[in-house]
Amino acid sequence: MIRLTDVSKVYPGGVAALRGVSLDIGERELIAIVGPSGSGKSTMLHLIGTLDVPSAGQVTIDGHDVSRLSDRQLSALRARRIGFVFQQFHLAPGVSALDNVADGLLYAGAALADRRRRAAEALDRVGLAHRLDHEPHELSGGERQRVAIARAVVGEPPVLLADEPTGNLDSAAGAGVLALLRDLHAAGTTVVVITHDREIAGGLPRQVRMRDGEVVAA
Ligand code: ADP
Repeated sequence: MIRLTDVSKVYPGGVAALRGVSLDIGERELIAIVGPSGSGKSTMLHLIGTLDVPSAGQVTIDGHDVSRLSDRQLSALRARRIGFVFQQFHLAPGVSALDNVADGLLYAGAALADRRRRAAEALDRVGLAHRLDHEPHELSGGERQRVAIARAVVGEPPVLLADEPTGNLDSAAGAGVLALLRDLHAAGTTVVVITHDREIAGGLPRQVRMRDGEVVAA
């Protein structure tokens, strides 16, 4: 599903964030990418998510060599195949949970009523059927992250990338979010979780350990 071959990333200014990383993530895996701050986890997630391109090496997503795609093809690949969840939720303020999730389908070009119907289903799936009309400021942190997850999966992408998804949550809410990610995985989604938390990583079936821009254990 995801293949990195000898991937390096050097940022302008000369920071080598990834140094010759090779990694295969199969279909329907649930995997943690774990390592200390600055080890290159987010950089790796950006490359897997086609939000950035490598300085050297090859990134292949679902059989597509990312460097061979135009910007337009990359956007299409991203919109259809990859869902993103971030530590900071990134929900639109002043917009209901329903419409925050419905916006996750904008790319699909469906009519508003159809997007809202599917958004309501996705919110039901994350246990928030009773919070459709709430705006982000009316929701707890854990609920906000559930809305963000519903938005990420409403288009049913095969891959879900989560960058420190529990980083802003207390342990109970964090455990709930992890349980939800496990449910999505059990239902067939490939889930990649970035975390600096060894305990969270240790609870997932596969761990890729990063240090200083290299994979030290996979
Ligand atoms: P992690 O997610 O493990 O904390 P990152 O991938 O964010 O690690 O960062 C890896 C290294 O690359 C760090 O030294 C960081 O300072 C550097 N870095 C990250 N993003 C940028 C950027 N946009 N420009 C320059 N350096 C960056």
